[in-house]
Amino acid sequence: MIFVVFLLGLMFGSFANVLIYRLPNNISPVFPRSFCPNCRQPIKWFDNIPVLSFLLLKGKCRRCGALISIRYPLVELAVAIGFSAIFYFYGVSEKFLTISILFFYAVAISGIDIEYRIIPDELNITLFIFGVFLPKSFQNGYLRGVFLSAGAGLAAGAVLFLLAVFFSKIFRQEAMGMGDVKLITALASFTGFSSIFWLIFLSSVFGSIVGIAVKLIKRQKGFTQIAFGPYLCLAAIFYEIFSNKLPHLFS
Ligand SMILES: [Zn+2]
Repeated sequence: MIFVVFLLGLMFGSFANVLIYRLPNNISPVFPRSFCPNCRQPIKWFDNIPVLSFLLLKGKCRRCGALISIRYPLVELAVAIGFSAIFYFYGVSEKFLTISILFFYAVAISGIDIEYRIIPDELNITLFIFGVFLPKSFQNGYLRGVFLSAGAGLAAGAVLFLLAVFFSKIFRQEAMGMGDVKLITALASFTGFSSIFWLIFLSSVFGSIVGIAVKLIKRQKGFTQIAFGPYLCLAAIFYEIFSNKLPHLFS
């Protein structure tokens, strides 16, 4: 069964690659079919098998020989390994579904935000919809759950929006982009309103750790702005996993 989940992860990883390449370039994720970014020729299905095709083609386009980015197989493997690990711990369950969705979006958002410093609305909006309509363990019925999730997300977004405006007025520097505010709206529809402190705190911790590590490796000096989206997603996944395990800490 975990093998099936792994294969499913490879397919979703392949779709994440499509989103990462197409959304920032304003190309529809469904049409046209996959094509080589260099020669624009459509890619045959047998050259489009996750990871395997990359290895068989030795990382080059069959037609024009242009190098295919190593990012493609890495993204596919990341989603496959992520899904498998989540399945290993949670089996077929609501939690598996929730965390897998968050993980998939984390990969797609990271792939785009790190390179382009944007989080496409398509991703924020669909993630919000998932968060609102996914069945959750609310005692008083599904519809109530839908309203609570939507309310939690929108309230979190409103608070963060006001904070972002407030700080940019005071420090005359953008502390948090509107893409991040929208992402928090979407994430809080999963994790609830009371999670926003943790989302901000944990993502700042994760971001600082990676930021300092990168600085040490690259020997950079001064302040460099980092993409915040990946750390917000990571914080939400962390919160989903640990908030019921350590309830007194996260309450
Ligand atoms: Zn080509």
